[in-house]
Amino acid sequence: MPLTRLFSPRDVHTRNWVMSEQAASMTDTLHHEYLKAMGVQCWVARDRVEASADDCLTGQVEEEWRVLEAQVSGCKKCQLHESRTQTVFGTGNRDADWLIIGEAPGADEDRQGEPFVGRAGKLLDGMLFAAGFQRADVYIANILKCRPPANRDPSPEEVACCHDYLQQQIDLIQPRLILAVGSIAAHKLLQTDTQVGRLRGKLHHYGDTNIPVIVTYHPAYLLRSPLEKRKVWSDLQLAQAVYKQRFAVQE
Ligand code: URA
Ligand code: SF4
Repeated sequence: MPLTRLFSPRDVHTRNWVMSEQAASMTDTLHHEYLKAMGVQCWVARDRVEASADDCLTGQVEEEWRVLEAQVSGCKKCQLHESRTQTVFGTGNRDADWLIIGEAPGADEDRQGEPFVGRAGKLLDGMLFAAGFQRADVYIANILKCRPPANRDPSPEEVACCHDYLQQQIDLIQPRLILAVGSIAAHKLLQTDTQVGRLRGKLHHYGDTNIPVIVTYHPAYLLRSPLEKRKVWSDLQLAQAVYKQRFAVQE
């Protein structure tokens, strides 16, 4: 019999009693207070205790996201804050297994406040689809949260300045796999300057963590060199294989 009711509905019916609405909706807490006052020891199901601890943790994590997002949107740590329309924080599933990391917002992203919404973004959607994901299944972020003027490459100082935000996103998401798209993301995440063509096709790890990193070409590069799409397809297959093998993910 559930703890929340003094009688089951069937008891009430057979005894022909009318249980007041108030009594019927008596909360767990009130019920426990009555029982305690009567000297009856109460036991709370373990899954209920765990559920309330989970709620508490979820609340904390949501608060951390809120604070981080507010910090980024007001950030003036590097000169890029002067020319941006708005910051581009990141988007998608905050519990995602896959974290996709690009370079920096372009003109469309700067205007709309979301990563990968321009032509390169459409191509990224296609790449994800080929890997069996909708955009909303994964989390998408960039190395930089502000657009470099005229889409120039980010400077090492700007990358260093912005990294703490991405690090906090990684800590919050705890992804099972990171897909680094393009050289800026690959170089920063793997702390190397080896060219993308030599980093792709191999399994790397993020810093001293166990998080696998797979490197692939940036979709903007694919727009210029469509023949390289085949290589991206094989990079995504490698990512899928690593992910499935590591985490025994079912088809
Ligand atoms: N290129 C990127 O690397 N990121 C974006 O958000 C858009 C284009
Ligand atoms: Fe701040 Fe990063 Fe934008 Fe620079 S690029 S102003 S560090 S959010």
